[in-house]
Amino acid sequence: MGGIQRRKRVHNNDSKMRRKLRLKRRTKDLDQIDDDLKPGVVENLLSRPVDFDKPGMAQFYCVHCAKDFINGDAFKAHVRGKPHKIRVKNLRLEPYTIEESLRAAGMGSYKAPAKRKMDTLLPEAVVKGETIADVKRRALGLEDVPLVEGEEEVKAMKDDDIPDNQEEGVDDNSDSEDEEGDKRM
Ligand SMILES: [Zn+2]
Repeated sequence: MGGIQRRKRVHNNDSKMRRKLRLKRRTKDLDQIDDDLKPGVVENLLSRPVDFDKPGMAQFYCVHCAKDFINGDAFKAHVRGKPHKIRVKNLRLEPYTIEESLRAAGMGSYKAPAKRKMDTLLPEAVVKGETIADVKRRALGLEDVPLVEGEEEVKAMKDDDIPDNQEEGVDDNSDSEDEEGDKRM
């Protein structure tokens, strides 16, 4: 962090290369994500503790891209996108290891890196279809309690609203009738 990040400017005219070298939105490298995908680690990443400072309170995290999203819809849109698909495809190949380099150098028998199954992993909040409001309630430890009170409040609000609207509607109608009357006059 900080300090000189890039001393030379090369690839001046190569927009794709330039995008690859961009540092601002750079996330983890594939080998780091490979560590994240190991059993015992993925589970924690798919059900992370609520963090109010992270986008989506850290509940909509794409493990493959090491990126937080603000809600389930944003996550789903991301998963359908090209950058994510490319990443998942690249993660299918097992990462380059020292063992492989030794085998390639003639020590032991060479075995090509294996392809493995790699599907998009959904964080728990996406699987459950939680909204940000749900996440907040869960974070506050209210997930079992308040729905009943909340519903009653909502119903009460609606009951209050409806007659008001109707009265207004009636008023509007009478007004419009008056206006029409005026126009006819
Ligand atoms: Zn992704």
